Amino acid sequence: MAILEIKDLHCRLDQKEPSEGKEILKGLNLTINAGEVHAIMGPNGSGKSTLANVLSGKDGYQITQGSIIYEGKNLLEMDPEERAREGVFLAFQYPVELPGVAINYFLRMALKAVREHRGLPALKLKEFDDLIKTKAKVLQLDESFLKRSVNEGFSGGEKKRNEIFQMALLDPKLCLLDETDSGLDIDALQIVSNGVNKLKIEDPKKAFLVITHYQRLLDYIVPDFVHVLVNGRIVRSGDKSLALELEKSGYSWAKEESVSA
Ligand code: ADP
Ligand code: MG
Repeated sequence: MAILEIKDLHCRLDQKEPSEGKEILKGLNLTINAGEVHAIMGPNGSGKSTLANVLSGKDGYQITQGSIIYEGKNLLEMDPEERAREGVFLAFQYPVELPGVAINYFLRMALKAVREHRGLPALKLKEFDDLIKTKAKVLQLDESFLKRSVNEGFSGGEKKRNEIFQMALLDPKLCLLDETDSGLDIDALQIVSNGVNKLKIEDPKKAFLVITHYQRLLDYIVPDFVHVLVNGRIVRSGDKSLALELEKSGYSWAKEESVSA
C-alpha cells in the first residue's frame, strides 16, 4: 500500500478572498510507497517548499482541489501535531532557537508526545538515555552536543545534525527533507545524507521525500525516483539518471514543457 498518495493537488496562498491568493500547486500527483526514496527537484519558486509545508500542515495555504491520503487516512484533516505523531516528519520543523532548553530535554518531550499517541508509555529516564546513546552512535554524534540549547548559536552543519537526530529519535514513517538552505556546504550535505542512509538501513520501510535544488545532494542520497517540479506540477519523473541529466541540461526544457502543457 502507498504510504502517501497525492492526487491532483491544487493550492493557493491563503488570503482573505480565496481568489486573491496566488495558485502555487497546480495539479500535483505523487505516490510514495513504504521504503522508497523520492527526490523532488526544480527551479526556484516552482513550489517545492510549498509542497513540504502543505504536507506538514503549516498554515498559510489553502487547498482548493485534490487530495492527500497518508496511510489510508485523509492527511488534510489532521492538524500538524497529529501528522507528526502519526509519523510524518518535516525536518526543519523547529528552526527556532530555544535558549536554555537542552536538546535532550526537548527531544524527551517530543518523544513522549509521539509515544503517547502511539499508545506507548513514556520511557524511563534511563531508557531514554540508552536510546539517545544508541542513536547518537548511529549518527556518529558527540553526546556533549545533546546538552546544548536547541539551535542556539548552531552552525549550519549543527542545525542539520540536530534535525537528523530528531528524525532518528522520533522514528517517523515518512521523512520530508526540504533542503532550502542554499548555503548548505559539503559538510552539512554529508551529515544529512549519512543520516538518511543510516536511518534507511536501520528501517528499510521508512519512506523519504527529499526536496532539493541541487543535484549534489543526490550524489550522497541515492533516490529510487526523481521528479521535476516546475510551475506547480511534476513535469517529469524518472530514476536517478534524471538528476544527472538535469545537472547537464538545467531546467530550461522543463520550463518550456510546463508552458506548453
Ligand atoms: P521553491 O521552494 O520551489 O523555491 P516555494 O514553494 O517556496 O518554491 O514558492 C513557490 C512560489 O510561491 C514562489 O513564486 C514564491 O514566491 C511564492 N510564495 C511562497 N510562499 C509565499 C508567501 N508566503 N508569500 C508570497 N509568496 C509566496
Ligand atoms: Mg524552497
